[in-house]
Amino acid sequence: MMHLAFLVLLCLPVCSAYPLSGAAKEEDSNRDLAQQYLEKYYNLEKDVKQFRRKDSNLIVKKIQGMQKFLGLEVTGKLDTDTLEVMRKPRCGVPDVGHFSSFPGMPKWRKTHLTYRIVNHTPDLPRDAVDSAIEKALKVWEEVTPLTFSRLYEGEADIMISFAVKEHGDFYSFDGPGHSLAHAYPPGPGLYGDIHFDDDEKWTEDASGTNLFLVAAHELGHSLGLFHSANTEALMYPLYNSFTELAQFRLSQDDVNGIQSLYGDPQESFPVLPKEPLVPTKSCDPALSFDAISTLRGEYLFFKDRYFWRRSHWNPEPEFHLISAFWPSLPSYLDAAYEVNSRDTVFIFKGNEFWAIRGNEVQAGYPRGIHTLGFPSTIRKIDAAVSDKEKKKTYFFAEDKYWRFDENSQSMEQGFPRLIADDFPGVEPKVDAVLQAFGFFYFFSGSSQFEFDPNARMVTHILKSNSWLHC
Ligand SMILES: [Zn+2]
Ligand SMILES: [Zn+2]
Repeated sequence: MMHLAFLVLLCLPVCSAYPLSGAAKEEDSNRDLAQQYLEKYYNLEKDVKQFRRKDSNLIVKKIQGMQKFLGLEVTGKLDTDTLEVMRKPRCGVPDVGHFSSFPGMPKWRKTHLTYRIVNHTPDLPRDAVDSAIEKALKVWEEVTPLTFSRLYEGEADIMISFAVKEHGDFYSFDGPGHSLAHAYPPGPGLYGDIHFDDDEKWTEDASGTNLFLVAAHELGHSLGLFHSANTEALMYPLYNSFTELAQFRLSQDDVNGIQSLYGDPQESFPVLPKEPLVPTKSCDPALSFDAISTLRGEYLFFKDRYFWRRSHWNPEPEFHLISAFWPSLPSYLDAAYEVNSRDTVFIFKGNEFWAIRGNEVQAGYPRGIHTLGFPSTIRKIDAAVSDKEKKKTYFFAEDKYWRFDENSQSMEQGFPRLIADDFPGVEPKVDAVLQAFGFFYFFSGSSQFEFDPNARMVTHILKSNSWLHC
C-alpha cells in the first residue's frame, strides 16, 4: 500500500530556514488546518478562542482521539506526523459523526438494491465511470447476499452523482484535494446516495484519484458501514492508493463489518424489524407542525424528531431526522425562522434558541430567549417568522405577538399586541408561521390560514399538510 503523502511532505517548510515571523505564520496556519480538520471530522465545536488557548484540555483530547483513530502515535500535540495526515486526501464523512448514531438505521431492509449513475465526470469516458462503479459494487456483492441492478431513470436506492462545492445537501465540497466524496447511510430519499467531488482528477489508475477505490469505500457507507480505525481496511477514512489495483481485496475487518449487517453470501437474509423512520404520515389529515422555516430557498417543516424538506427543484418532500443534519439540536421544536440577510436560521425550544447556517450549528448557542427582549414571564414562544423585505421578525406566544427589528437588533416598543387585533381571522393559538408569495401562512393544528398583510384579512383556509403534496 502506498500513501500519496510524499508530495505533501515536500511542501512542508523547514522551520530553521524561516525567520521568526515565518515560523509564527506557519504555526498559525497549522493551527487553522488542525482546527478545521477537527471541526469537520471529529465534531469539535466551533470556537476559535478555545483553539488559540494551546493548552486547552478539550483540544488535546480531540487530537488524541484523532491520533488514536488514525493509528498515529498518541501525543496530543500537532506533531509532524499528525499535520501530515491532516493534509491527506480523505473521505468527507466524519470519523466521529452522527451516522453511527442513527437509531435502527444501519442497514437496508432488502437484499436487492438499485443504483443510478445520475451524471458522469468529464475526467473519464462514460464506460470507464460505469465499469468503476460496477467493479465497486462487486466488491460488496461477493461477500454478502446483496445484489444490485442499474436504473437509468427515476429514484434508485443509491443515487450516484458528481458535483462541486455547494451541491444542495449542506455538505459542500472543498475544491481539489482534502474531501474527495461522501455518502449517506441506508434509508429513503437522500440516504444511500453517493456524491463525488468533481474538483478531483478522477482516474482509472493511480495517477489521480482512483474512482474505483473511492466508490468502493463510499458504497460501504451506502450499505451501512461506518469508518474503521484499522489502517488496512477499505473503510479507513484516509485515501490510500494501492500499488496493485488489480489485486485489490477487502480486508478481513471490512468483511466482518458488512457480514455483521447482512450475513455471508450463502446465508438466508435475516428477518429485519420494520423500517422505523416514518412515524407520522405526511398525508394524515390531522397532521400539525411544531415549527416551519425557510432555509436557502427551501422549506423545512418540523415535527417531533423529524422534518420534511421541500425544495423548488424537487416537489416531492424529503423526510429526515433532525439529528441527521444538526446532531446538537433538540427535537420537538417550538419555532423556527430564517433571516436571509444573515444566512441564518434561528431555532427555538423552551427558553433557549440556536442559530444554524446550512448544516452547522453556530458557536455560542443556545442562548436564552430573554436576551432578545422578552419579559421574564414568557417561558417559551409558539411560532416566529421573519419578514424578508421589512426586516422585522414576529414572535407569537399564546394570544400575543412581539416584533423584533433586525436592523437595530432590538424588540420594538409598543409590544406585545393581541394577535386577534392585527391578524383578524387567524386562530389565536399559532403553531408555526411561514412567509411565501407575499402572504403569511399561519398554522394552527391541522388548519392553515393564508393571511394577506396588505388587505389585513384571511384569504384562504387550507389543510396544514397542503405543502407536502398530499
Ligand atoms: Zn468514508
Ligand atoms: Zn453531497
